Amino acid sequence: MAFEGLADRLQSTIKKITGKGKVSEQDVKEMTREVRLALLEADVNFKVVKDLINRIKERAVGQEVMESLTPGQQVIKVVKEELTALMGGEQSKIAVSDRPPTVIMMVGLQGAGKTTTTGKLANLLRKKHNRSPLLVACDVYRPAAIKQLETLGVQLDMPVFSLGTEVSPVDIAKQAIERAKEEHHDYVIIDTAGRLHVDTNLMDELQQIKSTVNPDEIFLVVDSMTGQDAVNVAESFNEQLDISGVILTKLDGDTRGGAALSIKAVTGKPIKFAGMGEKLDQLEAFHPERMASRILG
Ligand code: GDP
Repeated sequence: MAFEGLADRLQSTIKKITGKGKVSEQDVKEMTREVRLALLEADVNFKVVKDLINRIKERAVGQEVMESLTPGQQVIKVVKEELTALMGGEQSKIAVSDRPPTVIMMVGLQGAGKTTTTGKLANLLRKKHNRSPLLVACDVYRPAAIKQLETLGVQLDMPVFSLGTEVSPVDIAKQAIERAKEEHHDYVIIDTAGRLHVDTNLMDELQQIKSTVNPDEIFLVVDSMTGQDAVNVAESFNEQLDISGVILTKLDGDTRGGAALSIKAVTGKPIKFAGMGEKLDQLEAFHPERMASRILG
């Protein structure tokens, strides 16, 4: 299960303090030391941990705790609130353009789960929001990627716009939006090319698509299992493309949690959705508070 190590450690740390009728500065010090170690072990970014611990310390020895009748529980509440805030606080909404179609660009490295997530997102938009998306195959470098999206289209009974591998991705995206207008699709989801590493060619192409189609959302798909790498990838994509949000995949695996807990703080961009499995209905809105509760038990 995701966050297992982190959850175990935090929960046992918390247990020690929960029932306390009095919480001393020493108690808070010990608790934050444990929380700090647990977070570092879960591969949370070093600077993120430092800032978080400082905030927890400041609040945990402050008035709201000391004057409370149940200081132990109050400290836990502080930890939970700070973890929630770290992950973005509120659940983020998906954009709706007042001039349809709403255009979503999906970006990310190969293997992160971009194509699968494109299908999942389309499925969610249709099921939960009653929308009619058009999927667009812009990875012209890998015929297999186009085929994969087309297969998803068949599974979902949803149209996929593709012009093969000979037309430029920018033109494909442009024409797809025209098609969406003609056929009254209210969302266009563009599956762009992925590479094994962040490189200039990829970024140039993504920037060109971005400036041509002017997307309402740019979702970066990252694999939560890759920890700090996911955070670094998010930082570079954000610098180059000014993404609007992140979709974390494979949260059903045994990720240690570093990516989920660092991405918002490092990039300033919210995690909007979480992939919870390979199936097309396994995409969930990301709720920071629920995630914090899950981690703290
Ligand atoms: P892309 O190269 O980024 O387009 O990645 P794919 O969409 O082809 O996905 C790569 C692999 O990750 C596939 O085997 C997917 O089934 C798998 N995958 C994607 N999202 C998830 C997820 O949320 N959970 C799990 N367990 N597997 C996922």
